[in-house]
Amino acid sequence: MTMAVLGTGIMGSAMARNWLKAGEAVRVWNRTRAKAEPLAEAGAQVADDPAAAVDGADVIVTMLYDADAVARTLEAADDRLRPGALWLQMSTVGIEGAQRLADLAARYRLTYVDAPVVGTKEPAEQGKLTALASGPDEARDRVERLLRPVAAKVLWLGPAGTASRMKLVANSWVLAATEGVANSIALADALGLDGADFLEVISGGPLDLKYAHVKGALMMRREFPPSFPVNGALKDANLILAAGESAGVDLAAVEAARRHLDEVARQSHRDEDMSAMYLAARRAI
Ligand code: NAP
Repeated sequence: MTMAVLGTGIMGSAMARNWLKAGEAVRVWNRTRAKAEPLAEAGAQVADDPAAAVDGADVIVTMLYDADAVARTLEAADDRLRPGALWLQMSTVGIEGAQRLADLAARYRLTYVDAPVVGTKEPAEQGKLTALASGPDEARDRVERLLRPVAAKVLWLGPAGTASRMKLVANSWVLAATEGVANSIALADALGLDGADFLEVISGGPLDLKYAHVKGALMMRREFPPSFPVNGALKDANLILAAGESAGVDLAAVEAARRHLDEVARQSHRDEDMSAMYLAARRAI
């Protein structure tokens, strides 16, 4: 079986490494080739273009920025796609994006599985993501087997598109939680308190959240090495708000996160971790 992984950014490269470790034959392609090249040492075949990567491949994985990037990449490979190949679309693309890509899959006669993931750089490296999967029931066993090296948990949610809707729900939680941590650390700081003492207040009780300690530590250090970049979080906030708007839900916490992400993105923090939204809460930019 040959697998083509299109997109070896933070998430795609970690996932490709875990498939390689599990003994899969993996071809990788990335728009910026330099990010794919280190995977050669781990046994991957680095392709020059998407067409060379997918040529006759049985499984295609897309882990790219958004639906436009995914569609353009697949269209660039259209004459080499093997009809009947399994397409695991794992990028976060939202509701309309997932439908657009389902239409593309039908055009190319690919078996489309909408399979975004929850979890960031570290769980991706450890093969401990939570994969949300949706598609034809006949593909379920195979998909669950294929995802084993990259995911600690696979939730099969129903027909294609269901997983992308759940991904928006999950990321509304991620954005609201990060905004909450940014608010509390910024307020502690501005009131002359130590953010670490705030984390100690919640530690071990029902208000505690491991994520608060992880993101809070970055905020207190004012260092934001990218795990979930501002750019991606902003794209997701917009997808979530669009979904809320059409479903009639007022997502005030996500709106606040979007505003802070937008502010830090404009101040050249676009490629840093989303926890940089602390700087906007603290009015430190
Ligand atoms: P990343 O490191 O920024 O990687 C983005 C990837 O998309 C890179 O391979 C980039 O290529 C590629 N790309 C962007 N625009 C493109 C275009 N127009 N054509 C072709 N390729 C393009 O981001 P990531 O964190 O790995 O995210 C990948 C996907 O996973 C996104 O949909 C994101 O929302 C989702 N996700 C991320 C996390 C997280 O915590 N990081 C968690 C769950 C899901 P270049 O290298 O050439 O720029």
